Amino acid sequence: MKYIDEMKINSLLKLKVTEKEVDEIIVKAKQLKRLSLEESAKLLMVKDDIVLQKIYESASYVKRTIYGNRVVIFVPLYISNLCSNSCVYCGFASNNKVTVRKKLTFQEIKQQTEILLGRGHKRILMVAGEMGSSEENINYYIGAVKAIYSAEYKCNKIKRVNINVAPMSVEHFKKLRDIGIGTYQIFQETYHEQTYRKLHVAGAKTDPDNRLNGVDNAFKAGIDDVGIGPLLGLYDPNFEILAMLMHIEHLEKTYGVGPHTISIPRIEPAPGSDYASKPDYLVKDEEFKKIVSVLRLSVPYTGIIVSTRETAKFRDILINLGVSQISAESKVTPGGYEENSVHNDKLERQFSINDQRSLNEVVKALIVKGFIPSFCAACYRKNRTGKRFMDLAKPGQIKRICDINALVTFKEFLKDFADADVKELGCKLIEKHKITLDNKSVNILEKFFKDIDNGIRDKYV
Ligand code: SAM
Ligand code: SF4
Repeated sequence: MKYIDEMKINSLLKLKVTEKEVDEIIVKAKQLKRLSLEESAKLLMVKDDIVLQKIYESASYVKRTIYGNRVVIFVPLYISNLCSNSCVYCGFASNNKVTVRKKLTFQEIKQQTEILLGRGHKRILMVAGEMGSSEENINYYIGAVKAIYSAEYKCNKIKRVNINVAPMSVEHFKKLRDIGIGTYQIFQETYHEQTYRKLHVAGAKTDPDNRLNGVDNAFKAGIDDVGIGPLLGLYDPNFEILAMLMHIEHLEKTYGVGPHTISIPRIEPAPGSDYASKPDYLVKDEEFKKIVSVLRLSVPYTGIIVSTRETAKFRDILINLGVSQISAESKVTPGGYEENSVHNDKLERQFSINDQRSLNEVVKALIVKGFIPSFCAACYRKNRTGKRFMDLAKPGQIKRICDINALVTFKEFLKDFADADVKELGCKLIEKHKITLDNKSVNILEKFFKDIDNGIRDKYV
């Protein structure tokens, strides 16, 4: 597999590490410096509980220093479960005969988006299987993104559409860039070539380099917010994390910036897939906590996403350790957001969901723990993406801006969509948080809050 030196990773996996070395790496990480592959490998090798605790605490420190108490919320929108690939772990695989197939029309996509807007969502991750010619796919994606952006609910519109779809040519990525997509997300699934070839048995996805090229093509097309990740459960998780960090080194060297986000989905049972219920390398919770923490220390400025594949309780722990973005009230079936949708049937979904809470419930739980839910998309709309974003983030210049924007979007949510108890708790949290801000920020915020009271929405800096 391109850029992935398996021999080097295997030798890193044999490294031994002392507590003193871990302490030294932690000192560097707490200065918010990017860790080397070897340093990250050493942290991954730690097994001792007391040393692990030090890693968790440092990851929490880095998380708080860079992201404060903000947590970005998004929702996935599945537009089609038709697929010509056969990934053995996925409910949408072409050879999976139990799955009921559905491809939403643009009108249906708009309707689904209106439902999500009506619940308070502002950021969508559009997801689809891969079907038909590349020309048909790109035209469908373009129509779908336009349908999402055209939806409106009481003056509220979607602010950012990220997409998770099959890789494509530079020319096709340029078309998506031109209609204003946010992050292009693609998971390598496994960076271990032999395993990759064993688990992807039909369609364009059989070629692992085609998938890696997808990330390069997105960058070459000028989409500089790209999201990557492994699907945990297919191969040795430590190998996967080191290989992904090697992939990141390639991106940093070639494009001057790494991925905007990393996702670390764990495999979940899927209809019609025996493999998904019994994956080869089940990742336990403790191992997963270590992975999140090591990533937070290794690539401090990269967003880490955890989805509703994880339970509510476990997601709370992961947010403290380094997760910066979470999804809420996800349905992994096309058409799943209608009330009592027939599409939420077991046989139309991609995999099982473990956090079924509504957006209001997720927001409430975050508030209770002192986190500020953010629906902000200002950086992307102000062109602060890719390297420009990182250049602002690293000297800490972005934090003030993020604080203001997060609080404004949070206040809008409370005003327009929150249940009474959530509104009360949220307003108290805003007042508490305001005390920590400088005078200039408070003045901007007060002005924006007045605007919100007067019915004006979507102000940002
Ligand atoms: N079809 C496109 C692709 O494969 O890149 C994009 C959409 S696919 C629905 C999104 C991701 O779902 C895949 O990249 C894979 O990592 C994840 N996925 C598939 N089956 C899964 C399962 N059983 N449990 C958890 N995640 C799964
Ligand atoms: Fe299709 Fe993506 Fe599922 Fe593979 S993971 S079967 S490509 S939808």
